[in-house]
Amino acid sequence: MGGILVQRQPRGRVARNRIGRTENRLIVPVTASNSDQLKARLGADRIHLGEVLAPYTTFRIGGPADVFFEARSADELATALRVARELGIPHFVLGLGANILVGDMGFRGLVIRNAARSRSITADGILEVESGAVVWPDLIRFVVDAGWSGLEHYAGIPSTVGGALWQNLHFLSPAPERERTMYIDEVFLDARLLHPDGTASVKGKDYFDFGYDQSVLHHSGDVVLSARFALEGGSPETMNRIIEENLAWRAERHPPLDTEPSAGSIFKKIEGIGAGRLIDQCGLKGTRIGGIEITRRHANIMINRGGGTAADVRAMIDRVVETVRAETGYVLEPEIAFVGEF
Ligand SMILES: Cc1cc2nc3c(=O)[nH]c(=O)nc-3n(C[C@H](O)[C@H](O)[C@H](O)COP(=O)(O)OP(=O)(O)OC[C@H]3O[C@@H](n4cnc5c(N)ncnc54)[C@H](O)[C@@H]3O)c2cc1C
Repeated sequence: MGGILVQRQPRGRVARNRIGRTENRLIVPVTASNSDQLKARLGADRIHLGEVLAPYTTFRIGGPADVFFEARSADELATALRVARELGIPHFVLGLGANILVGDMGFRGLVIRNAARSRSITADGILEVESGAVVWPDLIRFVVDAGWSGLEHYAGIPSTVGGALWQNLHFLSPAPERERTMYIDEVFLDARLLHPDGTASVKGKDYFDFGYDQSVLHHSGDVVLSARFALEGGSPETMNRIIEENLAWRAERHPPLDTEPSAGSIFKKIEGIGAGRLIDQCGLKGTRIGGIEITRRHANIMINRGGGTAADVRAMIDRVVETVRAETGYVLEPEIAFVGEF
């Protein structure tokens, strides 16, 4: 083994939420020799060196990965993880990049973009799906068209199945009531996981320990290879109405991703108060640092106006945290995860 590679960490407040597992192990940097081994094991034409990560995130921010590999099946995902671990190369599993901020200096190691997307549904509504499947629109359209209900609430949210289980994807219950938050764990049955020791097993809800923006995946080092959801028969008319209403709700309140890239809500909610409300109360909507702006549509969302950097986002996070603390006494914590070198 070579040396220890610690990715440069974000300073101050933003350090809390950084991706820790690949940074805290005994790891070696990518070299000509081990990248050749990656090529030999994963296919020379499938390995990309120095791939810029910004286009693979919804924020459109992030520098290059030393090595980038796109897994097209759960088997390829498991193989890439096992090889990286054998070689001691730090690695990160990337979904749609909708809940992360990648550092401007990129990621030292292997980024595995999860594009394992096969899916099927049984006659009694058990959806079996690989973890790189895209929840909206692909998976939701697939199940709704087949008459199965349970996922339509999450229409419009950018997420893979793996990312959805990492964070326990959630949204307000259907209009007009919108009286409670619905969570994807409500229809979750079980998942096939690759554990840090290289073994795989199927684990159910108890193991996942789901909470608000929480699951066991945050600290276990497990990677979801595939998952099963138990759906119920539903009327396509009702489901399509829910989808349309939820899309309309989002269109009114959220910046459109194609023209105003973002990572969704930046700060965790504060029960009964709302992070966005506090930020709004401090008059921070419209504040701009570099290419990053707090959108006027929603105080908890920062948008990339073009040329925005991870450094701009961090500076904005620090400004918001300091202002809200000084003016209201509440301490906001980032919800997004920080990945790579800053
Ligand atoms: C415009 C916008 C609106 C949003 N609205 C909502 C909302 O209403 N509700 C909500 O809950 N979220 C919302 N989000 C946040 C985001 O959509 C979710 O957190 C989503 O689940 C992220 O999925 P992803 O595939 O992009 O994960 P990524 O951002 O790529 O990764 C997030 C974390 O999950 C880990 N991960 C990914 N795949 C796996 C896997 N297979 N196994 C283990 N770990 C894995 C990654 O390593 C990383 O640590 C929003 C985001 C945006 C940009």
